Amino acid sequence: LDPQSFSEESKMVVDFIADYYRNVEKYPVQSQVDPGYLMHHCPDTAPYCPEPLETILKDVSDSIIPGLTHWQSPNFFGYFQANASTAGFLGEMLCTGLNVVGFNWIASPAATELESIVMDWVGKMLMLPPSFLFSGGGGGVLHGSTCEAIICSLAAARDKVLKKIGHHKITKLVVYGSDQTHSTLQKASKLVGIPTSNFRSLPTSFSNDFALCPDDVRTAMEEDIGAGLVPLFLCATVGTTASGAVDPLEALGHVAKDFKVWLHIDAAYAGSACICPEFRHHLNGVELAHSISMNPHKWLLTNMDCCCLWIKEPKLFVDSLSTAPEYLRNNASESKKVIDYKDWQIALSRRFRAIKVWVVIRRHGLDNLMFHIRSDVNLAKRFEAHVAKDPRFEVVVPRRFALVCFRLRPKEEGEGTELNSRLLMAVNGSGGAFMTHAVVGGIYIIRCAIGSTLTETRHVNSLWKLIQEKAQLVLQESGL
Ligand code: PLP
Repeated sequence: LDPQSFSEESKMVVDFIADYYRNVEKYPVQSQVDPGYLMHHCPDTAPYCPEPLETILKDVSDSIIPGLTHWQSPNFFGYFQANASTAGFLGEMLCTGLNVVGFNWIASPAATELESIVMDWVGKMLMLPPSFLFSGGGGGVLHGSTCEAIICSLAAARDKVLKKIGHHKITKLVVYGSDQTHSTLQKASKLVGIPTSNFRSLPTSFSNDFALCPDDVRTAMEEDIGAGLVPLFLCATVGTTASGAVDPLEALGHVAKDFKVWLHIDAAYAGSACICPEFRHHLNGVELAHSISMNPHKWLLTNMDCCCLWIKEPKLFVDSLSTAPEYLRNNASESKKVIDYKDWQIALSRRFRAIKVWVVIRRHGLDNLMFHIRSDVNLAKRFEAHVAKDPRFEVVVPRRFALVCFRLRPKEEGEGTELNSRLLMAVNGSGGAFMTHAVVGGIYIIRCAIGSTLTETRHVNSLWKLIQEKAQLVLQESGL
């Protein structure tokens, strides 16, 4: 790595990305390519000789960009956004540029110590109880995704219980969530060895806005105990993927306590909103949880990837996940005075994500981060108001954050899915905007998730105009 060419070529890439952001609005939001398209643009074998960066960037423009769905477009309203910011990018550059691998303290003391510091910072921004902070005996770690965070929490919970009841009882352990819990819980359960038949996906309904019902959890646990099984882990969600529902943490926490079950809170999306005092009540009851995770890469201006995970008893991660090969032995680890984050995660190697979070928080400040959440929520309110004004449409579930779930009202309930999936295809196919769908309570909904960093009022207004135009056509074609 020659610093001179590093500097020159990096600037070329930065300029290239800046141009991408200048033009991103002009591209169709959803990629329009056919499967296998890239094969026709790339040679069959890797080049033998080095190629100039100019040639490579030209290929990015000509071949790669057409195959992108533009997550950073202001007209991207799908899934949950992966919001980017200059600070997030700068932090990511520092992380990649320094390229240290802080698996244990000695491998880069600053990486470990900064991670502990920023985890306490973010924990305080969320007003987590001190028991989740290093300063209060708990602690936090940065993972790449909620999926990894839940696997580690589940592994810690599993090993804590199996230590008491015997390892052969793993087939008796039961995991609980709702039919709105992210599929990551089911995957994690499978990966930590919970039999698939011991995964409970408890039904939710319109009557309580798709929140998990504590009485149902209690009943399910009682039944499982009656059948000789052992309730292990309950996952509650703050901001479900389909509709942004919030599970009642406090009541679920009491159930978990009664049954000595590990309570994890998945606040992947809506956790970021809880830095604002007006949303913080959604975390009430967090003091009863054992672990909680949220993804700054969704809604806290932090470029991919970044998931914060806090636990009250970090020792349980170490008990479950630590390895001590000879080639990693060192005096600092043996002194037990340092954290070795390799023992808090699945992999050994790890990125210096803390520097990214540190730059994001320092460059924006809590004030601007709150402003960012509030402005997205205000845009969502604007979109919701558009929907409410048009009698052909309805908002299907109450909006809590910046996700609006709506649909065209069908004449007959049975026609709702066909009608709305055609509307969604027409909008996405136009290239002018991109949204995704979900099914809640048997009803097909279109999800408008506002949170792309570049989205402004004009984009929300244009989205609504586009939806109305396409709805007109779809209704005409359906003879409605
Ligand atoms: N949990 C919730 C509530 C989510 O909405 C998502 C993704 O949208 C996830 C978990 C999965 O997160 P990750 O991709 O970080 O594993």
